[in-house]
Amino acid sequence: MINEIEAKRLLITNKHPSSWFGVKYYLNIYRGCMHGCIYCDTRSECYHIDDFDTSISVKTNAIQLLRKELSRKRYRETIGFGSASDPYVPIEKKYELTKQALEVIKEFRFPLFLLTKSNLVIRDTEILSQINTQNYACVAFTITTADDTLAKTIEPHAPLPSERFKAMGILSVMGIRAGVVIMPTLPYLTDNEENIVNIVKHAKIAGASFVYPSFSVTLRDRQRTYFYNHINEELRKKYINRYKNYYHCTSPQYKKLKSAFITSCKTYDISGEMPSYARENSAAQLKLFE
Ligand code: SF4
Repeated sequence: MINEIEAKRLLITNKHPSSWFGVKYYLNIYRGCMHGCIYCDTRSECYHIDDFDTSISVKTNAIQLLRKELSRKRYRETIGFGSASDPYVPIEKKYELTKQALEVIKEFRFPLFLLTKSNLVIRDTEILSQINTQNYACVAFTITTADDTLAKTIEPHAPLPSERFKAMGILSVMGIRAGVVIMPTLPYLTDNEENIVNIVKHAKIAGASFVYPSFSVTLRDRQRTYFYNHINEELRKKYINRYKNYYHCTSPQYKKLKSAFITSCKTYDISGEMPSYARENSAAQLKLFE
């Protein structure tokens, strides 16, 4: 079910930009998501979205709010999409609110970070390229497995990883920073070295400029219940035995995965760090004094 709602405000200030990819202000045009990832954190109680898997809300006044809120900002700091919902859920094809929001960000000349699992983002390549030319744009694709078949099980309604890699290639050719966020890594499911190396390899082939990993998953309250209901008994028992009620569930293979990641980044000559507007900007300023 699709609900059209009016939001009171749009931009949320992130007090610790380094905790979420250098983003100072983040926004979600859609409340809820349609991609159905079985591990999605937005099912957690703190988001207060009781019907996460059956409906999605569209903030129909998002563009007016964004314009008003950006006009009040004194400094141009990074705006981020994709924290609690995917900005390119299938209904974005009809509503085009993410596209319109990008136009506003372009108009106000803010730097941009966008996180998605959808190849629909390439519809907006031209605007992204303009934001990038005038200031800064970075598009990260969440990829948890390079295996399309496994992805269909754990991210049932999201475009396939192979489609995301293709989209990444198109953005890269346009000179936009594009890469991969491996997040989450699911213990006993995607936490094998082969998977990590495959993601890095496919990212390089696609033309990505970075891959950034996390070798863990977070689990809590009803999100954990949903996840456990979508894995088999044997796996569920392994999780319960190892993680009990822990929120941060780090892969038991952490050291091996980290080592495989570092080695494969070297092999494929690709950065294992997340790019950031603040870092690039201060590096550029320092150059002025060289
Ligand atoms: S794409 Fe992101 S927000 Fe949407 S269901 Fe998957 S993890 Fe959740």
